[in-house]
Amino acid sequence: MSNCIFCNIVQHQGSAQIIFEDQQAMVISDRNPQAPVHLLVIPKKHIDRIQNTTEGDEALLGHLIILARQEAEKAGLNDKGYRLVFNNGRQGGQAVFHIHLHLLGGRAMHWPPG
Ligand code: AMP
Ligand code: ZN
Repeated sequence: MSNCIFCNIVQHQGSAQIIFEDQQAMVISDRNPQAPVHLLVIPKKHIDRIQNTTEGDEALLGHLIILARQEAEKAGLNDKGYRLVFNNGRQGGQAVFHIHLHLLGGRAMHWPPG
């Protein structure tokens, strides 16, 4: 989708700090970090929100989690822990309507998240 900011980024047409990329996904630094480590794992396929994923997306969704796990390990977060988050829809706090998995770490996370 040409008017989607994350489609543009995964097609190298937007500005982003790219941490990792493969055929299915890209990992970038969040431009407004909420923790010392705040990365976004973005599938190259445009899906607007988690509620609109299908069974056919199962492998892709698993891949996003594996990439987040690898990046957390690279960032040295395994001992301290970290949080993975999908926001879905307005009340879920979603602002960019192309799904993305947040990796947050480097500080203690609160629960409930608010
Ligand atoms: P969400 O609220 O789950 O939709 O999260 C959207 C996230 O994308 C926010 O944390 C933003 O700071 C981040 N974001 C938006 N545009 C960009 C961009 N161009 N590069 C990096 N991060 C971005
Ligand atoms: Zn998109």
